[in-house]
Amino acid sequence: MRNSIERHTGRLDELGSETRPGKTTVTIRRAGKVTRRYIASIKLGLRTLFVQRTALMIAMRHWSLRQQVTLLVGVLCLALVCALAAGAAYIAQSRVRQIVMSDEAHDAALTTSILDRGMFERYREVRNLAAMPPLKAIWAGDPAMIRQVLEQLRTSYPDYAWIGYATPDGTVQAATQGMLEGQSVQARPWFQDGLKGPAVGDVHEAKLLATLLGPAPNNEPFRFVDVAAPVRDESGRVIGVVGAHLSWTWAEERRQAILRSQARPDGKSIWILSGDGTMLLGPNIGSKPFSDEQIRAMRQAKTGAFEDASGPEAMLTGYAVAGGYKDYPGLGWIVISRQPDSIAFAATKGIVWTIIGLGCAIAFAGLICAHFIAKGVARPLQEIIQAADKIGRDPTISQVPRVVGSSEIVRLSAALRSLLRRAGAAEQQVIEVASQHEKDVTALRQLAETDALSGLLNRRGFSLLASDAFNLYRRSERSLAVLLLDIDLFKKVNDTYGHAAGDAVIQTVGTALTKALRSSDIIARFGGEEFIVLVHGADANGIITIAQNLRRAIEALPIEHQEQRLSITISIGGAMAHAADRDIQDVIERADGALYKAKAAGRNRVVIDGLQIQLAAAVA
Ligand code: GH3
Ligand code: MG
Ligand code: MG
Repeated sequence: MRNSIERHTGRLDELGSETRPGKTTVTIRRAGKVTRRYIASIKLGLRTLFVQRTALMIAMRHWSLRQQVTLLVGVLCLALVCALAAGAAYIAQSRVRQIVMSDEAHDAALTTSILDRGMFERYREVRNLAAMPPLKAIWAGDPAMIRQVLEQLRTSYPDYAWIGYATPDGTVQAATQGMLEGQSVQARPWFQDGLKGPAVGDVHEAKLLATLLGPAPNNEPFRFVDVAAPVRDESGRVIGVVGAHLSWTWAEERRQAILRSQARPDGKSIWILSGDGTMLLGPNIGSKPFSDEQIRAMRQAKTGAFEDASGPEAMLTGYAVAGGYKDYPGLGWIVISRQPDSIAFAATKGIVWTIIGLGCAIAFAGLICAHFIAKGVARPLQEIIQAADKIGRDPTISQVPRVVGSSEIVRLSAALRSLLRRAGAAEQQVIEVASQHEKDVTALRQLAETDALSGLLNRRGFSLLASDAFNLYRRSERSLAVLLLDIDLFKKVNDTYGHAAGDAVIQTVGTALTKALRSSDIIARFGGEEFIVLVHGADANGIITIAQNLRRAIEALPIEHQEQRLSITISIGGAMAHAADRDIQDVIERADGALYKAKAAGRNRVVIDGLQIQLAAAVA
């Protein structure tokens, strides 16, 4: 147990197990956390799965081939569509992510380049202004002239909020619109940096100019980027500093222009961050939207893109670090260009839905095709089933049809036809054997019931028929009589002419008796030289007549043996069945008694039980 769990869960620290009937609890300690797993529930799950599979198989038994194929193709198509849509979504999303991130990085780099070039222009303008030889004389002269030059520059580029010239002690000598003239800017960083050489100062809020410039159009405080350069005399001594405050709305306008140029501006934002990650342009100015680590990574990579999932919505974020342009060193701004995932992937969703729609349409078409194909496959099977079902019920159908279909179905039809042919042959054989058997049984029965010498029924054969006749007599009350016939003094025949002659006599007497009887009467050799006759539908007189006829027939029978004429007579004892008889044996017994009387009375005569003996004798 431990080994199997280790295989599935990886290395385990500690295991303990406890077994109770029907449930094994295994305690697993992994990464310091104790988890209880119920092995019984896994077994139950597997069993449920097996039961469901079995239930499905049982349910499928009731479904036709067409339904099964249609369902199978449907499930397959659905799985294919899902797999295709998932695959397409994955590929499209990865591709779109790549493209959008690359676009964002590109937009960030473009913005950086525009900002750097703009700053480079201002940096060059202010530097040129400070160093331009024709203006050298002006800086030491009339402040009105200086103001005029400065105003000229501001007119050519209105984004300058203020341009001024300060003497080395920090006093503003001249400035656009006369603002801050006479005031000291000695403490301002731009002035301090400008004394040393051409300099740029990062974005900051207006300090001294705040009240002079009045409220900004959007009521936000004025913010500037400073550009400053020293003015030197012929000997190279610094005689002042030209400083310019570039309104930060300049950057905002560039940003808006880039956003406007976007093909898909929805949700897109461009931020400008200072080198340390502080927001300079964008929402929450002064905040730090990224961690120091992220900023460090951006500064190191210079440009790139990543997916920022820190906010409420994941953003595809591109960035570029401003590195200056030509001799403008740059302020290390980081431009961020970003777009929400949802908007970037909106097109992907469209593609996925199109694929799902197309897939469903194809799957539906496939389903219809599968339905008809399955119908085509099932039709010949259906024909075979219908024919097979009728064989043995409908006499006109004895074979399954030859069908057109797949090779398996054609082979099935051929195999069934062959099977039915073989079954037919076997059936014919069985019929023949049965008929032969019946014939054999009949012959055997005949043999068993026939006397070999006379060809008449023997005692056994007679008894069966006599019992039936007695039962019939009981039901119908149609008269029934038994005559027992015995050859007189037969021993003498044997003794005189031999046993063979005796046999011949028995044979001849049997034949003669049969001839003398009606076909409805039954005669049998009852044993030795005794015969028995069963007579239907005769009254007492009729019986006497029949008996006398028989007696006379034998008396008159010419029997030749070795050219000698034998004289043979028979004695007949008869009895008519009556109500007191329990069975045919009672009748035979009474007939036997009568025969005895006939013998006793002198032989060659007829005695019928219960009838006047004299009558019988008289007839004789
Ligand atoms: P009765 O008039 O009293 O009948 O005299 P009977 O000689 O016929 O006396 P019984 O009936 O006692 O004798 C019958 C004899 O018939 C005895 C036997 O040898 C002979 N017998 C019986 N069956 C056969 C047979 O199949 N063939 C021959 N040849 N003789 C038979
Ligand atoms: Mg006898
Ligand atoms: Mg006899």
